[in-house]
Amino acid sequence: MLLNIITQSDWWLHLLVSFLLWGILYIVEGKILGRSFKTWMVLGQLLTANLIDLDHLFSWPIYQAGRCSLNNHFLHSTNFLPVYALGLLSRFRYFFLGILVHFLIDYLGCLDFWWF
Ligand SMILES: [Zn+2]
Repeated sequence: MLLNIITQSDWWLHLLVSFLLWGILYIVEGKILGRSFKTWMVLGQLLTANLIDLDHLFSWPIYQAGRCSLNNHFLHSTNFLPVYALGLLSRFRYFFLGILVHFLIDYLGCLDFWWF
C-alpha cells in the first residue's frame, strides 16, 4: 500500500508545485512589491495545505490509482471551494492558496492525462 502511494500517486507534484508557488510569491511579494515576506511561515502554510490529503484515510481503499480525489474525499468536496476561497482573505491566506492549488492539481489528475 505505502509503496503504491509513493510510486503511483502525485504527492511529489503537490510538493514540487508548493515550492514553485513559494518561489513565485517570494519574487512577487518580497522583491517586486517589496513587502515583508515571512519565508518560513509562507512555505509552512503552503506545505501544510497538502495535509488535506489525510482525508484519504477515511476512504477504502485508502489509495487507489486513477481515482479522482475531487468529491470522493470529504475535504476534497467542491462544495467547500467557497469556504477555501474566503480563507484567502484571512491571515492563513497562503494555507488556503495552497489548498486551491492542490485542488487544481487534483483536478488535472481527474482529466486523466498520460503523465499523471
Ligand atoms: Zn488531494
